[in-house]
Amino acid sequence: MSQTMTSSPATSPTDAATSIFESLESEVRSYCRSWPAVFTRAAGPRIQTEDGREYLDFFSGAGALNYGHNHPELLEPLLDYLRDGGILHSLDMYTSAKRDFLTAFQDLILEPRELDYRVMFPGPTGTNAVEAALKLARKVTGRQHILSFTNAFHGMTLGSLSVTGNSMKRRGAGIPLTNSSKIPYDDYFSGTTEDFLWLERVLEDSGSGVDKPAAIIVETVQGEGGLNAARLEWLRALSDLCRAHDILLIVDDVQAGCGRTGTFFSFEEAGIVPDIVCLSKSISGYGLPMALVLIRPDLDVWEPGEHNGTFRGHNAAFVTGTAALERFWSDDVFAKEVRERGAELRRDLTAVAEQYDGAEVRGRGLLTGVAFPDPEVAGRVAQAAFRRGLLVETSGPESEVLKVMPALTITAEDLAEGTRIIADSVAEVLGTAR
Ligand SMILES: *Cc1c(COP(=O)(O)O)cnc(C)c1O
Repeated sequence: MSQTMTSSPATSPTDAATSIFESLESEVRSYCRSWPAVFTRAAGPRIQTEDGREYLDFFSGAGALNYGHNHPELLEPLLDYLRDGGILHSLDMYTSAKRDFLTAFQDLILEPRELDYRVMFPGPTGTNAVEAALKLARKVTGRQHILSFTNAFHGMTLGSLSVTGNSMKRRGAGIPLTNSSKIPYDDYFSGTTEDFLWLERVLEDSGSGVDKPAAIIVETVQGEGGLNAARLEWLRALSDLCRAHDILLIVDDVQAGCGRTGTFFSFEEAGIVPDIVCLSKSISGYGLPMALVLIRPDLDVWEPGEHNGTFRGHNAAFVTGTAALERFWSDDVFAKEVRERGAELRRDLTAVAEQYDGAEVRGRGLLTGVAFPDPEVAGRVAQAAFRRGLLVETSGPESEVLKVMPALTITAEDLAEGTRIIADSVAEVLGTAR
């Protein structure tokens, strides 16, 4: 329960403890700049530093640790598998670990949802899944153009960057990012323009000069782009529009999927069935690298080996991924708990936001946060929270959103402890400014 939190700055680690990072590791490092501590051990929703401090983790590996750190019921089968001499690397050869994963995914995820997809294992990261999805959409349709949304984030390799919004990340490409264009995400014009008016019009107008796209790629909640959550009816309208114009719909569920919004797939609530789905981050359940592309069966037109990768058979991830599906997705109990925690989080953050002019709660489920009108505030709140023993990050084009992402397994007590730290940190940062 609640520990005594002080608002005095936590002691930074000594220079000796961090000098190798600063002298040898590239300037590209980023999270460590916000959290100058050396982390060693972790369990459930908590993480420890080598000098013995403990933090509540409301960052959760940006969504790669949905079941918390080192879940014992995932660790045990992994240890058994390793001790037993289980194969670790296998490219895309058949292994018993992969068979178990595919069987569990079919029985516990696809069949109960009446979803019919082929499962592709690309390389083990989210951007690998997005690249494969874009490549397949172009191959299937014979069209080049892809539409994506304002403030989207789909990964850091060139294809994924071409459909990403953030200008700093796009500039990093160093070459023109082509064959894609951006269209406005839900509520981009604050409700003043009917959402798909422009798109519908140009798709129907052979003189519009807008090339018909192969696909539209969308996140149901924009994790990196500021926690904009699309309305369910907007998602349905998008899906209908894709159907009507024979455009493939790709849902990038890398961050919002695996239960984050309260259902296994973030699009379930909208009742849509995308043509292609990208999953990664928490699909291994244990923070191990793994990614999936789910493909409508008739779109599975790959030639054998046409998309490839050395690390598509990470059997340790299959083992923990199978254990996670069996432990959490055999029935609706866990999803119900996630929805309850999500409602509590929204209630507590709403209470915080209501105290400050222009602050606004955004997101869905346990991917929810607070947007502040002054873009400096969220970062300062995250720093204050760190001093009080909480890891929480920011999101959005100007890092203006405090992004709250606890483990889905968190107890109501731990969640309340964290949101109390957030409330205190916001009061500290904004109290002095008033
Ligand atoms: C994190 C993320 C990616 C990229 O995943 P990586 O594993 O970092 O390549 C792609 N799409 C979304 C929505 C993400 O949140």
